[in-house]
Amino acid sequence: MPTRRSAWMTEDLDQLRELARAFFQKEAVPHQRRWAEQKHVDRDFWTKAGQLGLLCLSVPEEYGGGGGTFAHEAVLLEEQARAGDSSWGNSVHSGIVAHYLLAYGTEEQKLRWLPKLASGEHVGAIAMSEPGAGSDLQGIRTTALRDGDDYVVSGSKTFITNGGQADLVVVVVKTDPALGAAGTSLLVVETARAPGFRRGRVLDKVGLKGQDTAELFFDEVRVPSANLLGAQGQGFAQLMRQLPQERLIIAVASVAGIEAAVELTLAYVKQRTAFGRELIKFQNTRFTLAECATKARVARAFVDECVQLHLAGELDVPTAAMAKWWSTDELCEVVDRCVQLFGGYGYMTEYPIARAWADARVQKIYGGTNEIMKEIIARSL
Ligand SMILES: Cc1cc2nc3c(=O)[nH]c(=O)nc-3n(C[C@H](O)[C@H](O)[C@H](O)COP(=O)(O)OP(=O)(O)OC[C@H]3O[C@@H](n4cnc5c(N)ncnc54)[C@H](O)[C@@H]3O)c2cc1C
Repeated sequence: MPTRRSAWMTEDLDQLRELARAFFQKEAVPHQRRWAEQKHVDRDFWTKAGQLGLLCLSVPEEYGGGGGTFAHEAVLLEEQARAGDSSWGNSVHSGIVAHYLLAYGTEEQKLRWLPKLASGEHVGAIAMSEPGAGSDLQGIRTTALRDGDDYVVSGSKTFITNGGQADLVVVVVKTDPALGAAGTSLLVVETARAPGFRRGRVLDKVGLKGQDTAELFFDEVRVPSANLLGAQGQGFAQLMRQLPQERLIIAVASVAGIEAAVELTLAYVKQRTAFGRELIKFQNTRFTLAECATKARVARAFVDECVQLHLAGELDVPTAAMAKWWSTDELCEVVDRCVQLFGGYGYMTEYPIARAWADARVQKIYGGTNEIMKEIIARSL
């Protein structure tokens, strides 16, 4: 299936695409099964990516980044999806954590943390969700109470991407529990210097098997007040401003996932035979793939528009929410229909389409559930 070139692509991005494609083929694809078994990517995968300049692509060069734009992150995400890799949590590390530091950090904080994220020396995570609060973030209970020059952090977080390896965690905390949303702040915890910080188990998931999604515990962890991001009490507003990019990241990866699923399935149905002919010769196969290819085209057109809006600084919260819920719903539907065309092999984890099916499901849940996306859109109508 010919994938159309996005209007936001440039020659520079073509070169990045080639580099990223070769990188994932050489450094990720051969290790996917092992990563799934050990529930994390090898630590040196991060530093290899850093050496090639693939981390923090959209962070300015003065902080060690690639000096690119969101389009650079999008190309990397697309190539990761095409390679069928769901283990590497770079979209959180480069696409989210680095951007919180960039947007809200002081010059000193940016110079201290961003170069280490860009080299892969440090792995980043963002910890919002708790056992008792995910969608309803105002209900979080992790506190950070001021004591002299420190904050004392107590509580726990769960479902944290990169949690097993993270060195730098942006933690959403209540600095003034009586104030609700207005008492919420963002605090950077450097895990190597945080007595009382503990990682729980790496969680057993239906998909994303190679990702070290983990629980994090904070038992009176003293964090210097110099690690506060922005002003105290601004946490909620800071989160809201970053969420459109987080949701667009999920949408971009979903479109690439839809295209990859259609390509994998096309290749399969052209060589598999039943009743003396290739599966592609059955009208049901052809119509199913015709519909899925149409969905891929429509999804790309909409998400490309969102990428262009974001590059122009004009992607609003409801539009990002539309892209997130709709593209992830389409991804799940397309991958499910593709699995059907593989028959029994589609249910075997050695087949990439089976892993894609298991990996797709969570896209409707994280980054704000699709129901929350519809709430956001409905409120804007
Ligand atoms: C693999 C994975 C990785 C993750 N990575 C991270 C991470 O790196 N950092 C992080 O902070 N979190 C992370 N999360 C957490 C994720 O963001 C939350 O799971 C998600 O926001 C939903 O929260 P919840 O699980 O508490 O579900 P709940 O909020 O309990 O929701 C349960 C159901 O109720 C529905 N619901 C809730 N409120 C409403 C409403 N107002 N209207 C209609 N329906 C509603 C939801 O849509 C959902 O269907 C991750 C989760 C997973 C599974």
